[in-house]
Amino acid sequence: MTKPSAPAPLLALAIIIGISMTNAHAQSTSPKVNWPAYQDMAVDLMQQYLRINTSNPPGNEIETAKFLKSLFDKYGIQNEIYEYKPGRANIIARLKGNGSKRPIILLSHMDVVTADASAWRVDPFSARIIDGDIYGRGALDMKNEGLLHLMTMILLSREGPKLSRDVIFLATADEEVKDEGSIWMIANKAGLFKDAEYLLTEGGDNLREGETVKFVGVDVAEKAPFWLQLIASGEPGHGSRPIADSAPNRLVAAMSRIIQYKPPIKLLPAVEKFFQDIAPLQTEPRRSQFAKIRESLKDPAFVESLTSDREYNFLLRNTISLTMLNGSKQTNVIPTTATCNLDVRLLPGEQPQEFLKELVKVIADPTIKIENVNTFKPPNSSVSDTELFRTITRVTKTHHPEALITTKMLSGYTESQLYRQLGIICYGWAPMYTTPEENEGVHGNNERISVKNVREGTREFYEVVSDLVR
Ligand SMILES: [Zn+2]
Repeated sequence: MTKPSAPAPLLALAIIIGISMTNAHAQSTSPKVNWPAYQDMAVDLMQQYLRINTSNPPGNEIETAKFLKSLFDKYGIQNEIYEYKPGRANIIARLKGNGSKRPIILLSHMDVVTADASAWRVDPFSARIIDGDIYGRGALDMKNEGLLHLMTMILLSREGPKLSRDVIFLATADEEVKDEGSIWMIANKAGLFKDAEYLLTEGGDNLREGETVKFVGVDVAEKAPFWLQLIASGEPGHGSRPIADSAPNRLVAAMSRIIQYKPPIKLLPAVEKFFQDIAPLQTEPRRSQFAKIRESLKDPAFVESLTSDREYNFLLRNTISLTMLNGSKQTNVIPTTATCNLDVRLLPGEQPQEFLKELVKVIADPTIKIENVNTFKPPNSSVSDTELFRTITRVTKTHHPEALITTKMLSGYTESQLYRQLGIICYGWAPMYTTPEENEGVHGNNERISVKNVREGTREFYEVVSDLVR
């Protein structure tokens, strides 16, 4: 990759006084960015990054950290690797601003989930390009976004404006298993980034149909898993002589009450905005109902019809999914205990103890014990009325005038939850536009990203960040 040449007098001056131009901020003297060259570079680096196997377990993120370090070193960007245990590492890099605004963090995780190579079209670590798509584990989750962050750092250092704020690149280990990397950074190195105003990471929910970007959902809130196990106990016996209040019978009765239970509807501001924003895309009567969603939710018939749709139900309430069941190992044995596990997801702002109290009433059987079986991380959210949100909207509109840009709450979890606790406004967003079919590659088979998306995403992501740091 060659940098567009500096104006001759400046170059001559640089040679005379013996400074390197490699890392000079081009600022107003910069000719237009040579996009095709940077986009070629982005595709090449995407492939290199995907070829490093960071399947977690075991992770081995030190290899990707070294890869990123070599690039930051090459472009003169200050950086440091923290190998917090053998083979497991985070890397942080920084471009200094003048301090008039607070920093922005570009956060990605370097680990990927494991891949069953026998079910893929190609080796999951080959980064082969077939029909315009780059195949590789991590192509969507989330080495693609990490690559955009990397390219933005390189572009800012060579082509960018004078920075009003620091831009911090942070790539971590272990997001897919226990968040060890981020937890370690926050526990040991928070001083490096905790004054940040903004953070961008995964979690955005975008939709492309054909060549048209239809929907850009900026993730401003996520729900939190609060996993529970119900344990029923009772007298054991022979299956030939039924026991009316046996452990399995009690458990099934309790589960039946849970299935009937409909947790109350709660409309969060980000969700209200989402419904209002998507209203114009609906046909009547939903168009009017969504436009005044808070009012519409007072109508039980509307609530019933809306929440029967999986895509909307989880946005409006705490949810409970019955997932695991355990009883006797033998058909003719009535067991002493029977258990089931519930995947409960709480809305931002919810208190798990309050939810439990409600559930105990629903179960209505004091002999059934309830245990929390995960580490609960309190759900949180970020405001959407910000300079960053407006910048994302403005830049996206210039490239995709048809796109609807709105807030989105995820049913899943991202590391934004950890960083919001430091007071940082965290969004899940990246200009990566996929179809529902392509999205099946996330944690699935044949994960891939189009070359076109890498090329165009490099430019769009850079434009958002460079606007924000002016
Ligand atoms: Zn991820």
